Amino acid sequence: MTAVSHPPDDLLMAYGAGSLDELTAVLVATHLSLCPHCCAEVALVEAMGGALLEDLAPAEMADNALAAILKRLDEPAPRRVPVAPARSDRLPGPLSDYLPGGLQALAWKRLGRGIEQVVLLRRDAAKLRLLRIGAGVAVPAHGHRGTELTLVLRGGFTDLGRHYGPGDVAGADVATVHSPAADDGEACLCLAVTDAPLRLTGMLGRLINPFLDL
Ligand SMILES: [Zn+2]
Repeated sequence: MTAVSHPPDDLLMAYGAGSLDELTAVLVATHLSLCPHCCAEVALVEAMGGALLEDLAPAEMADNALAAILKRLDEPAPRRVPVAPARSDRLPGPLSDYLPGGLQALAWKRLGRGIEQVVLLRRDAAKLRLLRIGAGVAVPAHGHRGTELTLVLRGGFTDLGRHYGPGDVAGADVATVHSPAADDGEACLCLAVTDAPLRLTGMLGRLINPFLDL
């Protein structure tokens, strides 16, 4: 399993710098456990931050400080998140810490035909949730009042002409109106973080919107 769609660079940098909010950090950490490519990027950011701190500690920077930092970037850096392929019956490491009882112990809530969710964490209007979308089911068309990041854990979905498989991250923002559809043949399990409620569009969306805890 190799992810082809990754979190944006600014999120990886914020994660490496330790400044990412907890909800997004859980999603990014889970992606990192599935993606050696992004692990290497984060390790680079961490190494760069460490090198800068070290070299900035004395008030003056030596003339060769930049060269020293660049040299250090060439050295292998420790990984924060171990890369281990997830066993098919288990959730990726960082996520399983939040779900000691596994998927079965969660109080899944039906959102619509073939769609279930469970909210794992909330911070103000932001939510981290698991979504389970039945095989071949399309999520009703909706827009966003903020940003949404969706990480595929199992199965896959197609959104706006692009396919996302396990480990892939899809992004949406206020300009996005979409109706992602799960692959045929297998339910799709996703981890999603939103920083504002969704905005359902279309007749179905307008009808059910007031009743949903989105
Ligand atoms: Zn990645």
